[in-house]
Amino acid sequence: MRRLLPFALTAILVAGDPAAALLKPHPHQAYQTLRDLTTRIGPRLAGSAKAHEAHAWAEARFKALGLETGQISYPMAHTWTRGAAKATLAGHPIRLAQWGWTPPTARTITAPLVLLREPSDVARMKDRLQGAIVLAGPPSARLDPPEMAAPLKEHRAPEPEDEFPVEELIPALKAAGVAAILTDAGKSKGLLNLNSPWKLEPGGLPIAFVAHPDYAKLCASSTKLTLHLCGDFGPPGHGLDTWGEIKGSEHPEECVILGAHLDSWDLATGATDNGAGAAAVLEAARLLVKSGAKPKRTIRFVLFGGEELGYLGSIAYVKTQALDKISAVFVMDTGAGAINGFALQQRPEAAKILMPLLAPLAKLGVTETDLRNESGTDHVPFDRAGVPAFCAEQIQHDYAAIHHSQADTLAHVRPAELEQAARVMAYTALAVADLPEPLPRERGPLSKEAP
Ligand SMILES: [Zn+2]
Repeated sequence: MRRLLPFALTAILVAGDPAAALLKPHPHQAYQTLRDLTTRIGPRLAGSAKAHEAHAWAEARFKALGLETGQISYPMAHTWTRGAAKATLAGHPIRLAQWGWTPPTARTITAPLVLLREPSDVARMKDRLQGAIVLAGPPSARLDPPEMAAPLKEHRAPEPEDEFPVEELIPALKAAGVAAILTDAGKSKGLLNLNSPWKLEPGGLPIAFVAHPDYAKLCASSTKLTLHLCGDFGPPGHGLDTWGEIKGSEHPEECVILGAHLDSWDLATGATDNGAGAAAVLEAARLLVKSGAKPKRTIRFVLFGGEELGYLGSIAYVKTQALDKISAVFVMDTGAGAINGFALQQRPEAAKILMPLLAPLAKLGVTETDLRNESGTDHVPFDRAGVPAFCAEQIQHDYAAIHHSQADTLAHVRPAELEQAARVMAYTALAVADLPEPLPRERGPLSKEAP
């Protein structure tokens, strides 16, 4: 880390202007930071010892930069630990992974498979469900559906849903005596997937994702399946958010937040979801410190926990911190690809300021900023609370196929793009922190004309 500092410092001091210097490439450490996180710590399941280790690691990094740091702790009623997950059909192994925060099967069970094609089948096929292993919906028609849609500048119709509403049906399936639920991982190349039910509590049913080709095989089979899922709930625990900040020189009480989540699913190392975002935020902090920038407002770098369980960390942040002094929040959480814009969440007044302000980033490829609404990242709880909060749009590469799967590793990270993302985040934070006023909070009707 320190070996590179003299070079970075030289490059930036020569430029004279910290913001301008951020537009130029210079030695960076984002990839090394991500490698450190993913190889030394590894998967970071929310509430686990590894997640806590990652937060301690991140706080030490902020401290090493000389930043003031802090953590927000919030209770988790139940931790959860992965165990073995095995299934065989007529002696052949079936690839599967248990959903987090679901109970185990307690023992190896051998039970008939019942395919529910649609939710109404629960009532229609009730007599066959006692003791059965349920296949929740037909095989996915669309593999690797991207979390983020292609850029649109107007309201869009909801994506066609081919998902079976598993979580809504858990009480009815449980009442019908179902032994376990299997869902299609919905990914190409036989990759697995992970999720958790909305209710992070015991009392539900064992659920597992099955690799798409194997799921299709189960749907066509009339043979009983042998299944054993061993993941189980643990004692109460806690989650953490970790922050570091550069104090504002004129309005230290006001802040701009750069955020990403540090937790990950645990089939791989969470390199793209969202080790990359965390590494970019850490690198943005380093770039800004080394640039000598003296932002007018405080820039706070926040690494949230528990995003994968439904924004636990950002919800805790919104509930416990003063929101009226936050000018804006920028979150990175769509893989390790270069940032090509920000979704401005139907805030035309903020867009009028941000579009020209961020125009210099066009030379880094940031040309897709527009008013679209996005969800699915930690900007959402802030957005709901009225804070101008935006997520970065990124080149997705194979993100939709690999995130939450056993393939979410460093092999899918392009160092130069990760570095670009860190610079874009750093530049954006500095530019917004130096504005004469905090960003306006009005949310406008989404017009067809982009600003
Ligand atoms: Zn994520």
